[in-house]
Amino acid sequence: MTDLVLALDFGGTKIAAALVDPTGDVVRSSRVPTPSADPWDAVESLLSSVVQGATVAGVGIASAGPVDTVAGTVSPINVPSWQAFPLRSAVSSLFPGVPVELAGDGVCMALGEHRRGAGRGSKFMVGLVVSTGVGGGLVLNGHPFGGRTGNAGHIGHVVVDPDGPPCTCGGRGCVETIAGGPRMVAWARRAGWQAPDDADAAVLAAAALAGEEIPLEAFDRAGQAVGLAIAGAAAVCDLDLAVIGGGVAQAGELLFEPVRRTLKTHAGLSYLEGLEVRAAELGGEAGLVGAAALVR
Ligand SMILES: [Zn+2]
Repeated sequence: MTDLVLALDFGGTKIAAALVDPTGDVVRSSRVPTPSADPWDAVESLLSSVVQGATVAGVGIASAGPVDTVAGTVSPINVPSWQAFPLRSAVSSLFPGVPVELAGDGVCMALGEHRRGAGRGSKFMVGLVVSTGVGGGLVLNGHPFGGRTGNAGHIGHVVVDPDGPPCTCGGRGCVETIAGGPRMVAWARRAGWQAPDDADAAVLAAAALAGEEIPLEAFDRAGQAVGLAIAGAAAVCDLDLAVIGGGVAQAGELLFEPVRRTLKTHAGLSYLEGLEVRAAELGGEAGLVGAAALVR
């Protein structure tokens, strides 16, 4: 009997897989870019290259959403060829006789950080990935919480500006429209920032660190938007911790200072006095560690 678990992290830009041991250590991993056509063949060959014939005790899947954990299907926004794709049963057919668990990638990031990263010791936390988009997931009473269909904790679509710009979700003024990396860069350009053509959130962060006013304001707006969403989620779910990762969060205090300042103003209820904000520790590995933990 083996105690290795296979973890799959399916995203819109990359697919990663790993063999994970019972302590949560990654034994072996690999990743490939997500093909624009049907990505199933890429998933299948990646999984077999990571497993290398080993016997696994189960498979944990983190997928970009929306997911449907009841039906076992995924409909990632950036993968148009997969609409309600039966990912759980497709993976099951490769590994008959072992449990195969599916969750959203935000839930898996939060669970990974809870088990092995910045969330250790917390009982009620939200994990956020502030990157091209803004995703997230909840760990409540120590357990991953996906809600009715597996999509709970999707904090990027909390509305923080009702008159704000249109969002990919069909709404307006979601956190993602202010704190998503490309949205921050676009806002700074409109505000008059003279940026190189290929400027991204990292270039924006460098300009802010150099003291440029508009990039600094872009991070301030993003941090306030993230802070407002955390304050709302914390009040609703009685949280003790928010862990923030993703490319935009690499800017460190440029983002975290306005987040904490906003929480001071907007997370005023007595039960939120101890609410902490920490930087994620596991980077891109959090999703794989969390996916493996779904099986344990
Ligand atoms: Zn939205």
